[in-house]
Amino acid sequence: MPSSTLLAALVNFLTAAMALGLALIVLWENAHSRTNRLFAGFLLALCPYGIASVLNRYTDEFDLDLSDGIRVSTVFFTIALIFLILFNFEFARSTERWMRMGQALTAIVALASTAYFAAGDWLEDPHITSAGHVSYHTSPLTKLSMLFAISMLVASAWALWHSERKGSRALFWPVSLTPLGFSSFFVPVLDDLPMLSITLAAVALLTARVVLRLELFDPLAQLNKELAASNNRLNKALQDLTASNADLAEAHQRQSTFLADMSHELRTPLNSIIGFSDLLLQGTYGPLSDTQSDRLTHVLRNSQHLLRLINDLLDLSKINAGQMQLTRVAFDPVPVLDTLVETIHPLVASKGLQFERRYQELPPLCADEARFQQIMMNLLSNAVKYTHTGTLSLEGAVEDGMARLVVRDTGIGIPPKHLEHIFDEFYQVATRRTPHSPGTGLGLAIARRLVELHGGRIWVESEVNTGSAFFVTMPLAPTPESQEA
Ligand code: ADP
Repeated sequence: MPSSTLLAALVNFLTAAMALGLALIVLWENAHSRTNRLFAGFLLALCPYGIASVLNRYTDEFDLDLSDGIRVSTVFFTIALIFLILFNFEFARSTERWMRMGQALTAIVALASTAYFAAGDWLEDPHITSAGHVSYHTSPLTKLSMLFAISMLVASAWALWHSERKGSRALFWPVSLTPLGFSSFFVPVLDDLPMLSITLAAVALLTARVVLRLELFDPLAQLNKELAASNNRLNKALQDLTASNADLAEAHQRQSTFLADMSHELRTPLNSIIGFSDLLLQGTYGPLSDTQSDRLTHVLRNSQHLLRLINDLLDLSKINAGQMQLTRVAFDPVPVLDTLVETIHPLVASKGLQFERRYQELPPLCADEARFQQIMMNLLSNAVKYTHTGTLSLEGAVEDGMARLVVRDTGIGIPPKHLEHIFDEFYQVATRRTPHSPGTGLGLAIARRLVELHGGRIWVESEVNTGSAFFVTMPLAPTPESQEA
């Protein structure tokens, strides 16, 4: 077998394999791009062209018809050329009108040529030369269509050269190479070389390099750059955020410490105002006139209110500063709750309300007794404060391994939109009936923080004009059985 046959077969086979691989890469990378699809069309048409060209050299061995083989390879070659020219025009996009005209002309003539090559009478004397090369004579019409293809290639190369688009000039050179492929038809000396296959393989490779660079590598590099830039921005934002977080935490800590100090400083003189007002009212320093004792009662009441507010602020700032220490002990909650109920009893009675105690079965808790008292007192005093008729109740039971306490009232209730906020600091519900709430908006916030410090939960269920129920869970003291388990 002549070595040129082997060379030509090898070139054709490699062209087919490479074209298939490149087509898959280009389509996989972006099948939505029109230029990619046209280029893939060119590559995919090169595959059957290459395989047919290989087989044409072995028609005797495989008992094939040479003229059929030449028709097949020529048809696919023409299709490949159509796609290449369409791709060039599309890529150049020099002016929309020229591009469309060039594409339309190519498509019409190329379709006619394809039909002619597939069925027409253009092939004369197809044979394998002594050098193993496929040889045939073509009709003048065939040569004419080749000249047309060459001129369209030149036109598309011209469009590429003048295009503004990035990469167009890089495509100009491989496209300009293509007409070389036809040289064997016009220059007899080159007849023995697989010029067409060599040229097409080179064009496919060089063009794919540009397409892949523009469509794949450049965008990837750009993406990488953008990613790095946004990463930098994110890092910077994170640093800023961390810094301002630290500043905020420090400011918060300073504020809490300041509040704690101030509350302490305020409480001392207030206690003496309360103490002396009380003594004055009791007549320790002599009798008072009605007006004096009335005004002094105001002083006493307002000072007590101020003291409560300061105490709340002190507690809250302690909790916020992380300085609230709990002294957890096991204790029986029943007498503690009894004392609380007794404390509020005068108020309950003065408003004509009923009170039900349903907590006698509660087992010992493990909690800070004073803080537990404070939580329950806040809830009980709210219940009295916001209830005008009906019944209050305090229930206690064990549920899911925790003590569950419920303070129920038949008071004004809380509108649904406020429910999720009432445990926030300084949050008060302003309604028509309570335009200025008598409290400070701190009681529930403190209760929630204290409950959470104990590992419990606090929540509310409420209906306007029907009443509210505040639920609290608290840890139980370990029993001998639970300790054994
Ligand atoms: P305040 O000192 O204002 O009572 P709290 O934090 O204790 O502050 O309560 C927040 C708000 O929740 C109150 O202003 C009130 O509007 C509402 N609230 C609390 N308890 C009840 C209740 N039992 N019935 C109706 N509203 C309540």
